[in-house]
Amino acid sequence: MNRIYMDNAATTALRREVLDAMLPYMLDTYGNPSSIHAYGRDAKLAVDAARRQAAAVINASPDELYFTGGGTEADNMAIKGMAARLSGRGKHIITTAVEHHAVLHTCQQLERRGYEVTYLPVDEFGRITAKQVEDALRPDTILVSVMYANNEVGTVMPIADIGSVCRAHNVIFHTDAVQAVCHIPIDVKAECIDLLSMSAHKFHGPKGVGALYIRKGVALEPLLVGGAQERRRRAGTENVPGIVGMGAAAELAHSGMERDSELVRALRDRLTRGILERIPHVKLNGHPVERLPGNVNVSIQYIEGEAMLLMLDINGIAASSGSACTSGSLDPSHVLLAMGLPHEIAHGSLRLTLSEYNTESEVDRVIEVLEKAVDRLRAMSPIYNNQ
Ligand SMILES: *Cc1c(COP(=O)(O)O)cnc(C)c1O
Repeated sequence: MNRIYMDNAATTALRREVLDAMLPYMLDTYGNPSSIHAYGRDAKLAVDAARRQAAAVINASPDELYFTGGGTEADNMAIKGMAARLSGRGKHIITTAVEHHAVLHTCQQLERRGYEVTYLPVDEFGRITAKQVEDALRPDTILVSVMYANNEVGTVMPIADIGSVCRAHNVIFHTDAVQAVCHIPIDVKAECIDLLSMSAHKFHGPKGVGALYIRKGVALEPLLVGGAQERRRRAGTENVPGIVGMGAAAELAHSGMERDSELVRALRDRLTRGILERIPHVKLNGHPVERLPGNVNVSIQYIEGEAMLLMLDINGIAASSGSACTSGSLDPSHVLLAMGLPHEIAHGSLRLTLSEYNTESEVDRVIEVLEKAVDRLRAMSPIYNNQ
């Protein structure tokens, strides 16, 4: 049986060309970029080239990009780094109720350390407005952190508007753009972004490497101290093969972004339409228009999302309910609850996330399998049969 991968919000397949770019830095060019000899200089050149490649996709200058051990670390570094740096000025942070746990749990940890956090509520589509941010600002607000696009429902936030509000009030603006980078256009300058998190494995790069963009002139406390790597902002010998892979993945994904996103959007719409037309009592979650090209998130009434995942898995289809970080727990997704979905509907939610490696025939097969699986599960469901 051919397997079908539709869990690209959790992680993506490594591109063949990315692996090819990485291999020499695992085998031959293994020097430490801090060393002054030829081995070290070659590694340093590769890291610098990758920094240019990754910075270009968000219109940053290379010296504004700092490599990290992934998106989670970039989020922690941005939020804790600003909190520590500006604690003398204030201890109030504004974020949203639908952030990734890398942001939410960081904010909750800061609350235990005496900071105050406002979690802005979202509308039925998972969006906030710039006005909500403006109204929540206080004299002691030191940071606003709003995700670029949601990892569960794919909703894209009005980032440029939020950026303008923050800039006008002289408050630092961080965005977790892990789901957006290399999928939709981003311009940190035009959108007034001060800090931005990205992660390579969400755009066909390797796992365990990411970056934090820090606008020139913004100062923050480092999360990790030790050596002078990453201009003293992130100590530790660089993950050279990973960084090279991130650079290559960024360049390849960004250069093909327009074509690929159109392709993925067409697949997404075919999948959404198929599900909504063939299966009764299904609702699309997330924004109908302001939405990531590859995200389909549906609530299938009278069904447990976990049961659905197992049925799909038996048929070789990889999907997710809510976020991968919460699978294993049966709590409904905090994102869907924040959007106002009742518990029982949130429980029956299914996320299918596509990439340009998916095909129309895969989409059609998923619709067919899903329709049959829903029929079988509903036939066993006392609630469905009593409705
Ligand atoms: C995947 C993801 C992260 C975490 O990135 P890692 O590189 O896996 O640590 C953070 N935020 C969002 C929105 C994500 O989708």
